[in-house]
Amino acid sequence: MVNAVAKQPIDLARAAAVAASVPDPELPFMTVSDLGILRDVFIENDIVVAQVSPTYSGCPAVVVIEQSILAALTEAGFNSRVQRMMSPAWTTDWITTEGRKKLRANGIAAPAAGRGTDNNPASEPILFSRITVSCPQCDSDNTHKVSEFGSTPCKAQYRCDSCGEPFDYFKCL
Ligand SMILES: [Zn+2]
Repeated sequence: MVNAVAKQPIDLARAAAVAASVPDPELPFMTVSDLGILRDVFIENDIVVAQVSPTYSGCPAVVVIEQSILAALTEAGFNSRVQRMMSPAWTTDWITTEGRKKLRANGIAAPAAGRGTDNNPASEPILFSRITVSCPQCDSDNTHKVSEFGSTPCKAQYRCDSCGEPFDYFKCL
């Protein structure tokens, strides 16, 4: 009998699942995986590393998201750290198909894949660029901004000129 304590291998699949299930503080129905901001989870020197790309650097939710992922991993028993990735810059293209469905189901407009980003350099915050915002109710592009600030700093209020419905546009995206 060898009296050495075998080192418990780190269950990477479980760690990745724990990190991926962390909700976004602004959009609790969205996980960091839905948003595409959790880029990778790997093991480095026996520590679980979660790579996170902020939606845009000025978003106050970034720090909260990083802390939430760290807390979830720690609670699940993992030695972990979060690594912030600034490059390549996050784009709305990284929102998963499932994530887009959830946004629409919750009445929030997000740019369609590839839209609003193709003509803009990645370094330009989407907030300041010209974008087409489609109504989450009727899909019309005939919308206008009502207020720069909605119920949270990350949301702007829009109204659809086709169906008349007000809706939130998630401008941190
Ligand atoms: Zn509409």
